[in-house]
Amino acid sequence: MFDKIVIANRGEIALRILRACRDLGIKTVAVHSAADRDQKHVRLADESVCIGPAAASDSYLSIPGVIAAAEVVDAVAIHPGYGFLSENADFAERVEKSGFVFIGPRPDTMRLMGDKLSAIAAMQEAGIPCVPGSGRPLGDDSQENIEIARRVGYPVIIKASGGGGGRGMRVVHSEASLRHAVMLTKREAASAFQNDSVYLEKFLEHPRHIEFQVLADEHGNVVHLGERDCSMQRRHQKIIEEAPAPGIDDATRDRMGALCVDACKRIGYRGVGTFEFLFENGEFYFIEMNTRIQVEHPVTEMITGIDLVKQQLLVAAGEPLAFRQQDIRFSGHAVECRINAEDPYTFRPSPGQISVYHPAGGPGVRIDSHIYAGYSVPPYYDSLIGKLICHAEDRSAALKRMENALTELVIEGIDTNIPLHIDLVSDAAFRTGSTDIHYLERRLGLA
Ligand code: ADP
Repeated sequence: MFDKIVIANRGEIALRILRACRDLGIKTVAVHSAADRDQKHVRLADESVCIGPAAASDSYLSIPGVIAAAEVVDAVAIHPGYGFLSENADFAERVEKSGFVFIGPRPDTMRLMGDKLSAIAAMQEAGIPCVPGSGRPLGDDSQENIEIARRVGYPVIIKASGGGGGRGMRVVHSEASLRHAVMLTKREAASAFQNDSVYLEKFLEHPRHIEFQVLADEHGNVVHLGERDCSMQRRHQKIIEEAPAPGIDDATRDRMGALCVDACKRIGYRGVGTFEFLFENGEFYFIEMNTRIQVEHPVTEMITGIDLVKQQLLVAAGEPLAFRQQDIRFSGHAVECRINAEDPYTFRPSPGQISVYHPAGGPGVRIDSHIYAGYSVPPYYDSLIGKLICHAEDRSAALKRMENALTELVIEGIDTNIPLHIDLVSDAAFRTGSTDIHYLERRLGLA
């Protein structure tokens, strides 16, 4: 096992990685920005290195900064967490060339799956169903684009090949706005992702978001850990996730899981990964793969009893998986609410100092969070301040437990979306388990 690793991230995921390292006896080094000196994981890590100012571009996104820190502390491996450099294939390559282990897939697999168009092509070859679409970058010939959109049928969605985090997408309802939408999305993609390649897909109007978790070692062993439903979203970003997905039976899970496992074997996948699908009228449509640990990984951990971050570290160290597909058992139901420092209804970020913090607790209640009373949420980064996860014997019991835990959880001094979560977990439509990805925005009058 690794002697010492660098945690190249912040917030709850940095703390989550630190905890997994401690379980495995690995020493940790927190690399952080000047705005994050008071982060819990920085205090708890064996060593810490400030690598730059608050702006992420000068700290968490600085490839030379992270690698230089790893050299100074003599670490063996680098864990990128999620966001920041976690899906940057150039970073993974530089890490490996500098003699460190990158805790994630091989750089060439990241490159293949990191570009949504090449990922779709690879998945089509592996027999995975994809959303009908252009299948290639849209050119500047607007007549050609009009023909593609006619063939696919309106509404369509223009998506940046290199997009992420719910950005770089634009829905088009009619031919009249197509040309302008393609141009705008291209321009945005060029500045946000340094890649102006955009493509077009059928915009599904009532899908659910269902994703499959996979885990692969270096020796060709691959398993899936079932699916998660992440349909409750705002601005294409998830806020509630659960596992298993309501209404997905064992045979469907086995069939889709096996397809994902097979695709991993074809592309030589290593580490944890997620195949994201839209699910409409009983059909799955692949949209993208995430080649890293996800925010919502705890719901899978709760129903399988498998620690995904520990598994990530073990397979990165070259260990073979200690279990096979038939050893994986799913037990009960888990729900996660993402707690954000933001206005619950307008989503306006609400940074500032937390004056009072009372976490929730009790059987089946888990909180993954870096906050504490007196902690100041900086304005520079993502608004996620923690995740409340509840597990119980079935969905209805898990939602009841979540409702209780949400009323027990107190965070004062800043706005949080706890009131919205309290509304949603008792929402009649959500309770039926059939709400689609547009439900929340429609309910809030935003769509
Ligand atoms: P990102 O990489 O930014 O997360 P994704 O491709 O995973 O982008 O899409 C994020 C979300 O955007 C999906 O969960 C879904 O809500 C919405 N979305 C993406 N593609 C489509 C589509 N073809 N039809 C309807 N909604 C879509």
